Amino acid sequence: MSYLPELAWPALAFLIAAAAAFVALDLARRLQTTGERESRAWLAAAAVAWASGMCAAQFIARAAQVAASAGSVEPWVVLGAWAMALVLSVAVLAQAGGGVTGPRRVAVAAGMLGIGLPAVQLALLAAFGGVFGSNVQWPLLALAPVTAAVGGAAALGLFFLLRQRFESHRNACAAAAACVLAVTVVLAQHLIAQAVSPAAPSADPLGPALGPLVMAALAAVATAALLAGLHLGAARFERRRLAHVSARQDLRKLALRDPLTGLANRVMFDGALNQAVQHADAHSTRLALLFIDLDGFGPINQALGHHSGDRLLREAAARLRAVTGPQDRLARLGADKFLILRTDDPGTDVAAHLAGEVLERLHQPFTLPDRDTTLSASIGIAMYPEHGAMSTLLAHAEAAMRGAKGTGGATYCFFEARMANSTRDQMELLRDLRVALANGQLELYYQPKIHAASGEVSGVEALMRWHHPQRGMVSPAVFIPIAERYGLIHALGNWVIDEACRQARVWRDGGLRMRVAINLSVHQLRASDLAERIGTALARHQIQPGLLTCEITESVAMEDSPVTARFFEALARVGVHISIDDFGTGYSSLSTLRKLPAEELKIDRSFVLDLETSSDARAVAEAVIKLAQVLGLKVVAEGVETEGQNQILRALGCDELQGYLFAKPMSAKALAVWALDDVGPRSLAFRASLYKDTALLAMH
Ligand code: C2E
Ligand code: MG
Ligand code: MG
Repeated sequence: MSYLPELAWPALAFLIAAAAAFVALDLARRLQTTGERESRAWLAAAAVAWASGMCAAQFIARAAQVAASAGSVEPWVVLGAWAMALVLSVAVLAQAGGGVTGPRRVAVAAGMLGIGLPAVQLALLAAFGGVFGSNVQWPLLALAPVTAAVGGAAALGLFFLLRQRFESHRNACAAAAACVLAVTVVLAQHLIAQAVSPAAPSADPLGPALGPLVMAALAAVATAALLAGLHLGAARFERRRLAHVSARQDLRKLALRDPLTGLANRVMFDGALNQAVQHADAHSTRLALLFIDLDGFGPINQALGHHSGDRLLREAAARLRAVTGPQDRLARLGADKFLILRTDDPGTDVAAHLAGEVLERLHQPFTLPDRDTTLSASIGIAMYPEHGAMSTLLAHAEAAMRGAKGTGGATYCFFEARMANSTRDQMELLRDLRVALANGQLELYYQPKIHAASGEVSGVEALMRWHHPQRGMVSPAVFIPIAERYGLIHALGNWVIDEACRQARVWRDGGLRMRVAINLSVHQLRASDLAERIGTALARHQIQPGLLTCEITESVAMEDSPVTARFFEALARVGVHISIDDFGTGYSSLSTLRKLPAEELKIDRSFVLDLETSSDARAVAEAVIKLAQVLGLKVVAEGVETEGQNQILRALGCDELQGYLFAKPMSAKALAVWALDDVGPRSLAFRASLYKDTALLAMH
């Protein structure tokens, strides 16, 4: 036998032992990170790898010696030894790698190895014919378990304890552990072989064709293939698992993040609030919740387009990020609403300071592609625990925000108990309003418009009234904002359209061509089928479109947005008249006003109210009337209450007047009685033109 194979076989044995240890440890490390079923599979794979490698290493080393003396192997004994090795591997790896690894677990595993490894190696030795020669060297034999235990402790400790600590040297630790384990196996095996000096091998039962060296080579190849297969299989499984994990994480992220701004969404915020409340309860600390709502974002969004609107929201989110720190949870609740939860035991002064900072940041001009714009915000602040339990905190912060908005916006407001009542009240009103709509508790009242020159009634404005069974008459100023906020305005608005047309038909059948005006809310305009709906109602009740006027408040009518423009075009096609309500309160641009297909301007009541006392109000009224005349629009003054106002408006050239001086809004029935009764403070006749059709009919 040449010198080279003598060294080559033990080297191959060591390599196989090291590779097996490496693969086995790598598989065993997954025991802690996976579920029970999966971890059992990893344990089995790791044990097969190690047991096979351990046996193959000894088999290869021993085969070289046996071959020199032309000996043989007992395959069944080899198989038995492999089974023992398998049991040992399962026990050691489960002990060291299962559960939370600690020095104790590693020590016990090393003890098992100390007993088990020499036993397996003795069994394997027996497979090569005859164990225990005549002169057993007991001290050497006793050294084998000690070597196995110490080496095992070192390898397992390196892998399961030190590798966790030295994050950056994980691979080096794993490689070192595998080498130490391989050295342990080879050394223990050498000690045992020396100690028992096996008896001369018997004749080869497998025949000369399958000599020990061939078998050793086969064992080496088979084990290497097995190890490679296990390793590659595990790597592939790991890749798939990681892909799964990252897909799941992406999904989770999508479910918890607002895609536009990247901020936490409502779901994630609820989780954060929950945690923060638990922490605050446990440590008796406070929280501050800021509910931020941008002022006037709706009109800006419509005027500049959604692309710019999105950009503005992203920029607003970035500014909020800039004022918040690690102690804050920031989220976008939807639309133009944001939340900040301050968690570091803030007082009201800190919360107020934060709100002030937010207001200041948001007030800086926003640069958008086509123009710069400025924004303000309304902020509601609710403190925990004094302003309510976790379940009500958000609602209370929102109520406080509405309080801030109610004072004109661009400010913050702390929650107060009376605001909670109003929230509860609103929900009750909303519920009752749905019932009212279904049960016919709503009615349209009609307020006459008076032709200034003749003093005759030229038409009426329909105003909604709600007869609440307990609360009595509820003002539209109260319930229309609630209906708008909670999406009931479409149903209400549709009812108004139909009811106004129905009443116009009743008057028409009675011989009166009464012009009727209805009010439209900005929310109604967003429904793309509104103009069509109005056309259908007119057709159903056979009312000429020219008899219906739609009043739209100035701030909405003047929005220079594609949505409003489309709506006005559609309305004009239907043929109804358009009136710009509450004129003077918005910021009209002359160019927009010129483009509008409107017929009428209504001067806001606030200017009429001050006409007699304020020269400014008088100047505004005069300017509006002149402007309307230039643009060929009819001017109506609303809220005329005194004779003085009446005289001034007539002198300024106002076309029509409306107000308590002439008539309050009244039911259709009351209007009929009122028209016949000429003993009131002012007796008014309906304009002759209102009968025109009837007169024509009578002539024919
Ligand atoms: P508006 O369209 O500007 O209606 C004029 C409001 O002024 C009415 O209040 C009317 O009753 C009141 N008013 C009329 N003359 C005088 C006066 O001489 N003095 C005083 N102090 N007030 C006078 P009302 O009926 O409470 O309606 C308030 C607002 O609610 C309306 O303002 C309108 O914006 C809205 N609204 C009413 N009905 C409807 C409706 O059917 N749909 C929609 N979308 N909004 C409606
Ligand atoms: Mg109106
Ligand atoms: Mg008005």
